[in-house]
Amino acid sequence: MASVPFASQQLSFVASASASDIFRFGGGSGLRFVTVQKNKKFGLPVCRAGSALAFRDLDADDFRHPLDKQNTLMLRAIPGLNEVGKTLLGTVTEQVMLLENIGTSVLVSKNQLSDLHHLMAEAAEILNVPAPDLYVRQSPVPNAYTLAISGKRPFVVIHTSLVELLTREELQAVLAHELGHLKCDHGVWLTYANILTLGAYTVPGIGGMIARTLEEQILRWLRAAELTCDRAALLVAQDPRVVVSVLMKLAGGCPSLADQLNVDAFLEQARSYEKAASSPVGWYIRNAQTSQLSHPLPVLRASEIDEWSRSSAYRSLLKRGIPIKSQLQKI
Ligand SMILES: [Zn+2]
Repeated sequence: MASVPFASQQLSFVASASASDIFRFGGGSGLRFVTVQKNKKFGLPVCRAGSALAFRDLDADDFRHPLDKQNTLMLRAIPGLNEVGKTLLGTVTEQVMLLENIGTSVLVSKNQLSDLHHLMAEAAEILNVPAPDLYVRQSPVPNAYTLAISGKRPFVVIHTSLVELLTREELQAVLAHELGHLKCDHGVWLTYANILTLGAYTVPGIGGMIARTLEEQILRWLRAAELTCDRAALLVAQDPRVVVSVLMKLAGGCPSLADQLNVDAFLEQARSYEKAASSPVGWYIRNAQTSQLSHPLPVLRASEIDEWSRSSAYRSLLKRGIPIKSQLQKI
């Protein structure tokens, strides 16, 4: 359990297999090399034709998923959550996290991987949120996550294998998803909630039961929070196919298959999953499959974002956008 407070600030993009897995930080298993095709992404045509819409007055509640709202209220109702979190959150843990990351990753800047720097800066401008630091880390596990350490500039980490897997607009959508966590202050809640869970485990007798109940509640909240951040990704990509493509690749993509994957077929698959899961047995299986996951199933995320992209809420948000020159075009 020692790793829990670390991980409590870690908001990763991809689903994890179990509650304990979501808190894994870093690889620690040595470097492995993924199959890398010739990098074609920088020559691909872009989806946004030359300009993007920036949302200068965007508020987190403009795009927060209803389930996120509901589950956030539930977390807020837990007595003493804030106080316990503040008391237990040690700065040593944070320092270790920060130093570990700086020591083992590459910091992106205007002079270092400038393309990624511009993609992040643009995503932050679109979402009206300060751009955090961005690091690229060597890892065979395609992932991205955000660390919101109190009193310090938050930072986002993307793994090299994710860079290999995605196009530039897809990568920007992932960065936007991570920015969504910052925009919505998800880091704070996650930190406090996990620390409380850790505390509850130390209480003899019913402690474990309390912790398990709370952990389920937290994971439910986190899955809802992920849906909100997929919306942030869409607000930046401004094309639902980009976001769905990211989810599809995370479900079953690799660099050698990336060009053959079909977004429409994946959306069709998502619809058939929804249909199969609507029966009582299907409902049970779906809940059993998802109750210990940090992220909703990729097919469910895909259909959620597909649905939201057709909503009047999304359309009216787009109307509030101000055109800016797209970095996707400039680079
Ligand atoms: Zn996330």
